[in-house]
Amino acid sequence: MKVLVATEKPFAAAAVEGIRKEVEGAGHELALLEKYTEKQQLLDAVADADALIIRSDKVTAEVLEAAKQLKIVVRAGAGYDNIDCEAAKAKGVVAENTPGQNANAVAELVFGMLVYAVRNFYNGKAGTELLGKKLGILAFGNVGRNVARIAKGFGMDVYAYDAFCPADVIEAAGVHAASSQDALFETCDVVSLHIPATPETKQSIDKALVGKMKKGGILVNTARKEVINEPELLELMAEREDIKFVTDIMPDANDEFTKFAGRYFSTPKKMGAQTAEANINAGIAAAKQINAFFKDGCTKFQVNK
Ligand code: NAD
Repeated sequence: MKVLVATEKPFAAAAVEGIRKEVEGAGHELALLEKYTEKQQLLDAVADADALIIRSDKVTAEVLEAAKQLKIVVRAGAGYDNIDCEAAKAKGVVAENTPGQNANAVAELVFGMLVYAVRNFYNGKAGTELLGKKLGILAFGNVGRNVARIAKGFGMDVYAYDAFCPADVIEAAGVHAASSQDALFETCDVVSLHIPATPETKQSIDKALVGKMKKGGILVNTARKEVINEPELLELMAEREDIKFVTDIMPDANDEFTKFAGRYFSTPKKMGAQTAEANINAGIAAAKQINAFFKDGCTKFQVNK
């Protein structure tokens, strides 16, 4: 089988070597398309691929149409909104992600941005500490659980809400289970977003919700920009001069948010999963999943069932 790694933004060399070892070790052929600049290059490269490993690369209906032999596409990472899952399903192509592989990397970045925010973006003035503050985790998945673990090290009082994870599972992890999303925002000094971008969550972080936060509330986003209702958050930040917003996904309205000097920060490029460890882990996991799929039809991580 031919396994194509198509990455506009390439994996680290160590990750490519790890992928190669897995793929060739299982008797498959590895092809690489890195740093491509034109869609046509991707359309040409996928034509004879049986399997595809991608990062943030877009696998649209057009790409799937060009990939006549494709059986499986694996997004090395957690979010898979860059794959047209419905189109893949219609063509009988299995779409998978590699959950959990970059969760610690993202969780550590939450605290990088959070310390920066509570210390007033290092402007020389006294800030506050995290010890004893209430942290709200919206969605208790792979990233959320890592955030909880690290938050306890800081001595924070940790709360979480997840629409699909039962309260007793959250409590068993030593975290207070909030009764609702609203309650989480009302209770906590900081809320960190870890929800996927779905029809239910898109635009859901709006003025009414964030407006429930106490004075000095901090919103941290390492999820997706689409979950934020940007016009409403801008409105709230104009009305509430105490609210801070730090994000790893630059909003469309970055220029407008930048006007809130000392209360807003965005990484210039999404940095959450950008660690050597996460990069290597996710790439190798993708290769292993493809091997398992070809060996015995394993679709454990399929996201378009
Ligand atoms: P995950 O699938 O392990 O967890 C997602 C959690 O969200 C699940 O527990 C699920 O029950 C919960 N959930 C789904 N819909 C919900 C809703 N409407 N309300 C409340 N909870 C809901 O995913 P993860 O690995 O924890 O990643 C979370 C998100 O972080 C990803 O979807 C992705 O968008 C983002 N992410 C960003 C980066 C980055 O570089 N900044 C890297 C990895 C992931």
